[in-house]
Amino acid sequence: MHAHDPSASPSADSTLIDLGKRYWLPVYRPRDVVLDHGKGSRVWDTQGREYVDFGAGIAVNALGHQDPDLLEALTTQAHKLWHTSNVFYSEPPLHLAEELVSAAGFAERVFLCNSGTEANEAAIKLVRKWASSQGRDAAKRVIVTFRGSFHGRTLAAVTATAQPKYQEGYEPLPGGFRYLDFNDVPALEAAFAHGDVAAVMLEPVQGEGGVLPAAPGFIKRARELCDEYGALLVLDEIQCGMGRTGTLFAHVQDEVTPDIVTLAKALGGGFPIGAMLAGPKVAETMQFGAHGTTFGGNPLGAAVARVALRKLSSPELLANVKRQSQALRDGLARINVSLDLFDEVRGRGLMLGAVLKEAHKGKAGTILDFAAAHGLLLLQAGPDVLRFVPALNISDADIAEGLARLEAALRAYLAA
Ligand SMILES: *Cc1c(COP(=O)(O)O)cnc(C)c1O
Repeated sequence: MHAHDPSASPSADSTLIDLGKRYWLPVYRPRDVVLDHGKGSRVWDTQGREYVDFGAGIAVNALGHQDPDLLEALTTQAHKLWHTSNVFYSEPPLHLAEELVSAAGFAERVFLCNSGTEANEAAIKLVRKWASSQGRDAAKRVIVTFRGSFHGRTLAAVTATAQPKYQEGYEPLPGGFRYLDFNDVPALEAAFAHGDVAAVMLEPVQGEGGVLPAAPGFIKRARELCDEYGALLVLDEIQCGMGRTGTLFAHVQDEVTPDIVTLAKALGGGFPIGAMLAGPKVAETMQFGAHGTTFGGNPLGAAVARVALRKLSSPELLANVKRQSQALRDGLARINVSLDLFDEVRGRGLMLGAVLKEAHKGKAGTILDFAAAHGLLLLQAGPDVLRFVPALNISDADIAEGLARLEAALRAYLAA
């Protein structure tokens, strides 16, 4: 980082940060800030500086930091049982599966795992297994995905992710994926005409790709085509699910019934857990031995996720998402009147993206540095979009303070 980097830290942290630079596989480039603890939507670093959290990790800590009910669930379960393997039952994942099925409406069964990537890997394998059980040969098990998508980092998930920057150098990639432009209905219709599509997989709101919602009617059209051609609709709600867009499941707003939905991120409120929900067409497809995981559905993660799911489903919380979404949109519009930085603010609920104007394209990372220096944890979605994904229970005061710090950071960025 260059000398006048606004987030450069005092020397007390530098030995810590040096450990990361020396020993971590250098696949990340964190800012020079060592976070220490958090409460609600505020976080403190090891230097005692306080931040407003507009990122919630990456849309993970949906109930903020140290939510008392999550803490209680975690510590109570920690004193009972952490791991049972899948050779024996334990209580929390049994209840969690029932509660997820009941909350989702469309699903009959659940596979619990540890991350978003694992949930998508399970979904991809389920699509393939289902197509093979239909007697379709391997060439007719194509999964259609969309440019700008993000589905994770395993070889199959990164192949589903239709962005070259995540794939380069990892060839040979698994076959059987076809990439289309997001929201391009004619392209989707043409893709089905090949007669080899087994599934369409998409994010109702693309996250990493720039906070880009599916156009009205796009997912519905995908559903129709899937039905017409005998294919499955797979929705990746890892980022946009669990209340983030104002409904527990994002696809409810698109008025579709999916066959498979994947969840992770906010599902554990900060504790790692993922889930794949399977509807009636595919719920019996994978039988004994077809898939598995050592840690997936462990009692600790499941106990926390049960409480997170209950709280994220509550009408009060979902009402707060709508309220704070409007407050954030209003605040960003106000800032933009004076600073003229954004072309648009897009997204749904508390998953918003401010798209930088031409003159500021590529500067999202720099703006994040200024935000951190002004006491605001902010995210980007690619180089051109500022991403706002705060905790869903964030207060009026924290939104207002975060916006004030954002404005100060943006003024400093413009003056630099
Ligand atoms: C984060 C994310 C993933 C990957 O989840 P991990 O837990 O990092 O493996 C997959 N899909 C979407 C939409 C995501 O936002």
